[in-house]
Amino acid sequence: MSSQNATILPEVVDLLALPVLDELTDAQARGAVCVWDPTEDQLTAETAIDLGERQTDGGHWFPRACRPHTALRMQILPPVGEEATG
Ligand SMILES: [Zn+2]
Repeated sequence: MSSQNATILPEVVDLLALPVLDELTDAQARGAVCVWDPTEDQLTAETAIDLGERQTDGGHWFPRACRPHTALRMQILPPVGEEATG
């Protein structure tokens, strides 16, 4: 079973609250390093989650993330359809 080139649906990525492009290193903007941690090792096809092409101020960037960070981010998403009741 192969799990290479995992891709998350754009609708899901939009909920993951990516960092602001201005705060990313060049390697992060290129998708070479996890978008949530610039100190990590470079991502590979086996370790990267493709977060899809993004457009900011006319520029294109291609965030990718490691699996642990992506899993963490997805776990903290609020339940769908559940509204805060105060
Ligand atoms: Zn990471």
